[in-house]
Amino acid sequence: MPSIKKKSTKTIQGRPLVDLTECSERTMRRKINSALTMTSMTSPEILCAAKKKLFVSGKRNETALFNKLLLSPNSVPQMKMAIKDSCNKEPISYTADEALAFIVDNQLTKQQYMNIRLGAKKRNCDIYPSYEKIFSAKQKCYPDNVKISESGCIIPLQNLLDHTTKRIFQIPAINEVKIGKKLLEMFYKWGCDGSSGQAQYKQKFNDNPCTTDQTMFMFSLVPLELRCCSDDSNDSSDVIWKNSMPSSTRFCRPIKYKFMKETIESTKEEVKEIEKQISKLNTTYVLFNDEYFEVKHTLIFSMVDGKVCNSLTGISSQKCFICGCKPTEMNDIEAVKYRPCITENYKYGLSTLHAWIRFFEYFIHLSYRLEIKTWQVKAVNKGLYSVRKQHIQNKFRSEMGLLVDIVLQGHGTTNDGNTARKFFKNAELSSSCTGIDINLIKRCGTILSVIASGYTINIKAFEEYCFLTAKLFVSLYPWYYMPASVHKILLHGAHIIQYAPLPIGNLSEEAQESRNKDYKMYREHHTRKNSRLNTNEDLIHILLISSDPYISCIDRNKQMHLKELSEDGKMLVIFPHNDNNYKEDELNSQLNDSFSDMNLSMA
Ligand SMILES: [Zn+2]
Repeated sequence: MPSIKKKSTKTIQGRPLVDLTECSERTMRRKINSALTMTSMTSPEILCAAKKKLFVSGKRNETALFNKLLLSPNSVPQMKMAIKDSCNKEPISYTADEALAFIVDNQLTKQQYMNIRLGAKKRNCDIYPSYEKIFSAKQKCYPDNVKISESGCIIPLQNLLDHTTKRIFQIPAINEVKIGKKLLEMFYKWGCDGSSGQAQYKQKFNDNPCTTDQTMFMFSLVPLELRCCSDDSNDSSDVIWKNSMPSSTRFCRPIKYKFMKETIESTKEEVKEIEKQISKLNTTYVLFNDEYFEVKHTLIFSMVDGKVCNSLTGISSQKCFICGCKPTEMNDIEAVKYRPCITENYKYGLSTLHAWIRFFEYFIHLSYRLEIKTWQVKAVNKGLYSVRKQHIQNKFRSEMGLLVDIVLQGHGTTNDGNTARKFFKNAELSSSCTGIDINLIKRCGTILSVIASGYTINIKAFEEYCFLTAKLFVSLYPWYYMPASVHKILLHGAHIIQYAPLPIGNLSEEAQESRNKDYKMYREHHTRKNSRLNTNEDLIHILLISSDPYISCIDRNKQMHLKELSEDGKMLVIFPHNDNNYKEDELNSQLNDSFSDMNLSMA
C-alpha cells in the first residue's frame, strides 16, 4: 500500500496566513506591491511563473489562456472584443448589400428569402431588410446597355468595364490604400468556352427558328489587379487592389452568351468581335475620395482551352500551335528546342487547368501501351491493349477511388481536374497502378503545381527543369510521341510565362470552366420560364450579381492560399518578401542575356 504523507504538525506562530484572494483589496495591493519590489523578474517572466503555478495546480483552462497571452500578444485586443461582445448581444441588422451577398452565397430564391425574413420577424428579430431594398441593391449591380434577346445576351465591353471598375472602387479595403498616381491600370483576363447539355425548353425562338438552346457559347472576364501605371512592369509595390481568388467564379463577369455551337467559325467570329471592342476601349474616369482617377484597361486573352487556341490559330490539335511541330517530330527534343516559334501565340497562356488533365491523360495512355510499346494501336494488338486498359481502369477504381477515361454522355470523359490532381498528389500509388516511372510523375506534378501556384516563377530554373523532364520522357518512352499540349508546357512553358504580364497561375481558365455549372444551375432554378426573354434577363442578372466585385467582397476575408510546393517546386519559384533580391537581379540579367534574341516587345 502506498504510504500516506502525514500532515505537518508544526504550528505557525503569529497571525495565520490568509489566501490572497480572501484578503481585502487594500491588503491584496500591498502584498502584491511588496512582492513586486522584492523580485527582479520581468513581466513576461512573472506571466510564465503564474502560468506554471496554474498548470501545477491543475487549472488547465486558465493555463491555456495564459499561453495564448504569452504566445500571441497581438490577439489581446481580439480577446478583449470577444469579452465585450459577449456582454452586448443586441441583434445586428443586415444592410441591403449584405443581405444580397447572403442571398447569392446561399443561392436563395426570392420566396425563400422572404420566408426567412418573415420567420425572423415573428420571433422579434427584424434583421433582414425588405425585398424592395434588396431589389434596389440589385439594380446597382447591372451595367448600362445590357442587350437581351431570345437567343442570348450581350453587354458592350466598355459598359461592363466601366461598371466593374466603379464597383471595385467601392470595396472598403481600397479606402485604406494611398493612391499616388492619377493614371491607373486595371488587368483582366478574358476568354470563352462552349457548354453543351443545357436544359431545352419547349418554347419557339421567334427571332431565329433554327436556334437550339442545347449548347451555349459564353464569354467572360475576370478583373485581376488594379495598379498605378508605371513604366516598370515588375514594380508590384503600387498594387491598389488584387483579386485574391483569380480562379474562383466570384469575379467572373459575363461579357456575352449565345445559344450556338462552339465551332471554328463561330469562335473566330465572336473573338474577333470582342477584339474589335478592345481596340476601341476608352479609359474610365472614377471619382474616388473627391479626386478623379483615370483607369486604363488591359485585357489578357488567357481563359481558353486547347480547342479555342486551335480554332483561332488554325493549327490542328495534333500539332503545336507555337512551333508547328508534328507528332512524329515531337520526340526529337534537341531539334525541337531550336525551331522558330510564332511568338504571337504566346498570348494564349498555358491553360493551366487543362494542363493537369492533358498530362494525366498522357500518363494513362502511355500506361495502356506499356506492353505493346507502339504509338499506334494496330489491329493485332487491339486485344492486348483493351485488356490492359480495363485492368488499369479497375486498379484506379479499387486502389485510388478514381474513375478514369469513362465517357460521359454529352460531357466528355470523367478525366477532370480533381482526378488529375489526385493522380499527381499520390505519385507512389499512381506509379504502381500505371507502371510508369515514379520520378517522371513526381517531376510533372512539380511542374504543374508550380504553374498553378500563382507565385512568380524563376524562369531560368523552370526552363531547365522542364527541358530535363522532356528528355527523361523520350529516353524512357521513345515509342510514344509526346502530345502537343504536354510539349507546349515542357518546351515553350518558360517563354509563355516570361511573356505573361502577371504570374501564370492567376491567368488560368478555371474560373470560366467552373462558371459552366453556374450557367446551368442559375438558368434552371433562378429564372422565370414564362418567356425566353424573361429567362435570359433573369439569367444575366443573377450572373452579374453573383460576380459583382463589391457584393463579392462583403464579409469575406478568404485569401488565396498559396499552395504548398514540393522541395523541387520551391527551387522553381521566387517567394515574395524574401531577402533574395540580389538573386532576382542576377536572374534578370541572365534572362536578358538568354532572351535577347526573342521578340517579346509585342503589344
Ligand atoms: Zn512547339
